[in-house]
Amino acid sequence: MKIANNLLKIKSELPEDVKLVAVSKTKPIEDIKSAYKTGQLDFGENKIQELVSKYDSLPKNIKWHMIGHLQSNKVKYIAPFIHLIHSVDSIKLIREINKQAIKNNRTINVLIQIDISNDKTKFGFSVDDFHVILKDELLSTFNNLKVVGLMGMASFTDNQYVIKNQFNFLKDLFNKHKETLSLEILSMGMSGDYNIAIECQSNLIRLGSTIFGKRK
Ligand SMILES: *Cc1c(COP(=O)(O)O)cnc(C)c1O
Repeated sequence: MKIANNLLKIKSELPEDVKLVAVSKTKPIEDIKSAYKTGQLDFGENKIQELVSKYDSLPKNIKWHMIGHLQSNKVKYIAPFIHLIHSVDSIKLIREINKQAIKNNRTINVLIQIDISNDKTKFGFSVDDFHVILKDELLSTFNNLKVVGLMGMASFTDNQYVIKNQFNFLKDLFNKHKETLSLEILSMGMSGDYNIAIECQSNLIRLGSTIFGKRK
């Protein structure tokens, strides 16, 4: 009951154009089923093994989002069914996703993760490297991979001003390339900072603990 209530309350307060990915990492199948029963279809995971095993045991109309750092050699396990990969952070990974998409005779939608925080532990392209792949028109050579947007994570801090600056930075980058790259999705915002992210034009938020409770 609690999960369903949390979810319905959050959703009732979201602007209409903001989509919600329920981040179910570390949480049991039963918790996902509780959320699913309210009509929630988008779920996010960050570990391949866990993602595949949950995919196997849950309804097939669930849209699975890979939100964590992804190693190239593991792309093959999720390529047949993944809905959106948020965490594309290298050319090597782009190449492998395209290759596995071809093998599965499909197009895989991805977001380019941009490193907007100063935290050394966070992944993502630097803005400079992002501009290099755009300049080389490299992305257009991958026919089975479609870049549909950008993703970013703010620093782990209580300073709202810092978080807002980082989100605004990604918003500006998104708007700069929106037309030319046909970008649609700006994935920013977690439980602690999603209201700021929405103020900064995010249209896809990734919430875990506010829905499912704290993780161990
Ligand atoms: C875990 C995780 C989230 C959700 O975090 P909460 O603070 O529990 O909402 C969102 N995005 C990414 C990339 C994550 O790894």
